[in-house]
Amino acid sequence: MPVTPVITRFAPSPTGALHLGHAYAALVAWRAARQAGGRFLVRLEDIDGPRMRPAYVQAILDDLTWLGLPWDGEVLRQSTRMAAYKAALDRLAGMDLLYPCFCTRAEIRAEIDRAGSAPHPAAGREGSAGDGSGDGMTPPYPGTCRALAASERAARLAAGEPHALRLPMDQALAKAGPHLVWHDRRRGEQVADPAPFGDIVLARKDIPASYHLAVTVDDAAQGITLVTRGEDLFAASHIHRLLQALLGLPVPDYLHHPLVVDGRGKRLAKRDDARSLAALRARNMTAQHIKTLLEDGEARCAAGLATAIQGP
Ligand code: GLU
Repeated sequence: MPVTPVITRFAPSPTGALHLGHAYAALVAWRAARQAGGRFLVRLEDIDGPRMRPAYVQAILDDLTWLGLPWDGEVLRQSTRMAAYKAALDRLAGMDLLYPCFCTRAEIRAEIDRAGSAPHPAAGREGSAGDGSGDGMTPPYPGTCRALAASERAARLAAGEPHALRLPMDQALAKAGPHLVWHDRRRGEQVADPAPFGDIVLARKDIPASYHLAVTVDDAAQGITLVTRGEDLFAASHIHRLLQALLGLPVPDYLHHPLVVDGRGKRLAKRDDARSLAALRARNMTAQHIKTLLEDGEARCAAGLATAIQGP
């Protein structure tokens, strides 16, 4: 029987300097590929408009090279992939699984407040890549634009009013069928449950794609067989599994790894310049120091000695 090669990826967004958390994410993906004699790919998730800086792109690649984590093949940039995202959106539209949403963030918030919906821990990315509220505790979209009369919708589209495209979650689930299974290498078999996220955004007002759509389409296009990423994105995998079913894409394995945290247990952020790889390098830390630090943290974490890997 032919053996499927392991293909992993590191998919940073060039919105800041790489820090220890990224180094760990890259190390996990690189190691999984190398240990299996597979391929390690890099994808730059450079469609997050205003927060992106071209200077970070080269800095990320330089950091990976410095860390000794060479990648295979060409780096894929999401900004070059709009045609593929459009093809996926067209396919969903052809299945009647997209509707335009004209709401502003303020309107959505006001509607949610009026309805008194309780926040819930939604997919970490629904905020930043979805409706823009960005706190990871966003109640689902209240469905305002789904209820628009066809004539009003047509008039607003004809007038060129800016709009996002949303997936009607209940209809999508009905089309995808029950029991969408995916496998997480740490947590075991999972049954996808994307319903709590509601009508997610698949194309933003400012970019004709969203995090969820782009990642799902690109993981398939790059032939990724093992998606490794932080625990913070665990919930997003439920959504990605649904999109794979709707778009007829293969289902990779997943590995959601622990996050690197600071001395107070807080996860590192891009603004933590003191823990950027560049800053650590300037303090004479070698790439080997960093790998040893991350591997020690990982071993402690696996032994139940820490809830996440701790940086210096
Ligand atoms: N671009 C995302 C990030 O920098 C990772 C996306 C993913 O692994 O699915 O957090």
